[in-house]
Amino acid sequence: MSVWKPFDGIASVERIGAQLAAGEISHAWLLTGPRGAGKRSAALAMAAALVCAKGAGAGCGECSACSRALRNRHPDVHVVEPEGAIIPVDVIRETVIPEAARSPFEAAGKVFVVQDADRMNDAAQNALLKTLEEPHPDTVFVLVSDHEEEVLETIRSRCRIVRLEAVPAHRIVALLVDAGASPAEAERAAALSDGDVERARSLALDEDARTRLDLWRRIPARLASPLEALDAAAEVLAEAKGAAKAREKQQKTEVTALAEAMGEGRGTSTARNALAKRHRRELRRVEEEVLLEALGALGAFYRDALAARKGAGTAGDAVAAWASSPISDGALLAAAARCVEASGTFTYNANASLAMEATLVELSRLAPPPAALEAVSSES
Ligand SMILES: [Zn+2]
Repeated sequence: MSVWKPFDGIASVERIGAQLAAGEISHAWLLTGPRGAGKRSAALAMAAALVCAKGAGAGCGECSACSRALRNRHPDVHVVEPEGAIIPVDVIRETVIPEAARSPFEAAGKVFVVQDADRMNDAAQNALLKTLEEPHPDTVFVLVSDHEEEVLETIRSRCRIVRLEAVPAHRIVALLVDAGASPAEAERAAALSDGDVERARSLALDEDARTRLDLWRRIPARLASPLEALDAAAEVLAEAKGAAKAREKQQKTEVTALAEAMGEGRGTSTARNALAKRHRRELRRVEEEVLLEALGALGAFYRDALAARKGAGTAGDAVAAWASSPISDGALLAAAARCVEASGTFTYNANASLAMEATLVELSRLAPPPAALEAVSSES
């Protein structure tokens, strides 16, 4: 199945696929559009198409190069991501630029995906600009950003800009069903994912994510006091750490595989260091994704309660108890809004545990669980 298959019907991405297949390979691309529009997936599909064993631009989706690139496991595909709030200039100077000058390991060229490119500070953007001005013939940069206007004009002017449209829920449902989810699971994941294809995919298809979802949906009922909110926050953080631990195990297998594939020759330590760095970033990302997943599920819970009160949607028992409780519409809305707001600022926040604790404590004030409200009213 071609790497473009998941983007069938999404005109902007179909055009990219056609351009790459026709050999119209720009050295710099900027993918923009709303969060969850699948920009990161599209960027990885581009990377896969470019390193595909069937030729640059093919993207057969079946060769080992395609499949590793799609999972960000290809030695010639480098994903640069913010470390905390920004992408510092050191990352560009010390990692990206030297790496871009080296020969590719196995593909015809190298691909750099710069995630959240707007979060490069000006120094980092200027450092990257030099590389974009004098591109290595076989290197392609794919910049990804939700905030096109925050990417320096000098950089934008060097890029082929592609604006992705938001992915409608029905498309996500269809994608998930194709990938093996039941229609009910697909609907639920699409509703919880805010149009974010990757999150929807993990919610519908990843066993661990589904188990976590049940945990997240039980949290609102536990937020009876700030102290209990802190307990819940600790549990969310432990889940995130657990997910990272599980990924770390997979990484160890990869390190062994790399060592076996390369032996102890020249370039081994460079490759090993690059892999170790990539692994560390990946673990941070896994943790962050789990925390965002929790906030998304919490926000959806309060919205579901509100919808159930208006007679829309199908409410489970937990949601029904909230819908019929004396808690005001305004409080449910405020709680849902707080979750959205928290996920918006989350990646900018260096201290994720404090942010999660603060959010859940605030939720315990905004929307205390119905059982706690009843306890208070029966005392008075
Ligand atoms: Zn391929």
